[in-house]
Amino acid sequence: METNSMGPGQDKICRCSKDEPALLHGALPESPFNCMQCKKPILLNDAIISNELKHAILKWAKTYNSLFALWSDTTEYREWAKQKLQDETGSINLEGLQIAQQYNVMRKTYYWMFQDNSDKDYVQPQQCPFCGATMVSILNNDFKVCHGCRVAYPNKQTSNDENRLNLRLL
Ligand SMILES: [Zn+2]
Ligand SMILES: [Zn+2]
Repeated sequence: METNSMGPGQDKICRCSKDEPALLHGALPESPFNCMQCKKPILLNDAIISNELKHAILKWAKTYNSLFALWSDTTEYREWAKQKLQDETGSINLEGLQIAQQYNVMRKTYYWMFQDNSDKDYVQPQQCPFCGATMVSILNNDFKVCHGCRVAYPNKQTSNDENRLNLRLL
């Protein structure tokens, strides 16, 4: 895989121990895995995982990014893409959850559940939509997670997606 050969500089990638939890977020530009502690991307090439899993991750991230771009960059497909991304039991999320679960064997991993937080009606869930447990804060992050289901939901104020959108519009 040569995906990361032109990757970010040394100071821009996570160098934390594998004990720090990771976030699987399909729309991140450098790597779909981000460190929850230092908030920097985790390089897939550093991960001790099978080539099969690496391949599955890259394939999934590519599809996720395409859906995400349809949502963020188009008007015609925006609602359609949003429905796919928001469907907790839709294939893109089920596959993502599965990948997070497999990666979790090596490093504790939570799965970022897409929400349109530019939507004024979006409310961060207080209870986990999967199991009903109370969502809790983790480290110094503005999203909340369910430890049992390993899912993360953005806070209303989280504006990563909007920032990304703004950058693209510049
Ligand atoms: Zn880190
Ligand atoms: Zn749960």
